[in-house]
Amino acid sequence: MPDNVFPSQHPLVAHKLTLLRSTETKPKKFRELVRELAILLCYEATTDLETEPVDVTTPMGATHGRELKKGIGLVPVLRAGLGMVEGIWEMVPGAEVWHIGLKRDERTLQPMQYYANKPVQPRVQVCLILDPMLATGGSASATVALLKEWGVRRIKYIGLIAAPEGIRKLRADHADVPIHVGAVDERLNDIGYIVPGLGDAGDRQFGTG
Ligand code: URA
Repeated sequence: MPDNVFPSQHPLVAHKLTLLRSTETKPKKFRELVRELAILLCYEATTDLETEPVDVTTPMGATHGRELKKGIGLVPVLRAGLGMVEGIWEMVPGAEVWHIGLKRDERTLQPMQYYANKPVQPRVQVCLILDPMLATGGSASATVALLKEWGVRRIKYIGLIAAPEGIRKLRADHADVPIHVGAVDERLNDIGYIVPGLGDAGDRQFGTG
C-alpha cells in the first residue's frame, strides 16, 4: 500500500463493512452501519491530533490534562457523506461542519461544485473530508483543492471503500492528504462504480435506489 494510504485493519470495521455491502441490508441498518464505521475510521484517522495541556480539578484535587488544540472541520461531500457526520460529531461536538456539493458535469465529466458553505475564517487544525466511496477520485480531489483555496493547511480523507483508481488520482493531485478507508476494493467498472463495493452509497442510505 502506498505511503499515506491507511486501509483499516480493525476487525470491527471488517465485520461492519461486510454487513454494509450485503444486498440484504436495508436503509435503516445501512445508515446505522455508516454512522458506526465513520466513528471507527475517524478514531483511526485522528490519533495525531494536536492537544495542549490544561489544568483540571477532580473531586480529589488538581491535576493536569490535555484538550484539543483548535477545532476540527468535518466536510461531508453531498449527499452520501451526510451519513458520516452525525456519529463523528457526537464524539467531537465542537467540530464545525462545512457542506460541499459536487456533481458531475455531463459535458466535461469533471466534478462541478453546486454548493459550498465556506466558513467565514477557517481556524481549524484539520479538516476531515467525509465521502463514503473513493471511486474515480475526481470529487475528492476537487474538494481538497477547494479547501486549500480557502486556506486549510491540514486535510485528511475518510471514506468507507476506495478503488485503486481513486487512490491513484487523489495521491497524484494531493500527495499531502492521508487517505483513511475501511477497505480497498478491486477496481472501478465502466460506469464508475466500485467493484465489489456496495452499490450507490447515497441511494442505499436514503432509500432512493
Ligand atoms: N459512488 C457510489 O455511491 N458507489 C460507487 O461504487 C462509486 C461511487
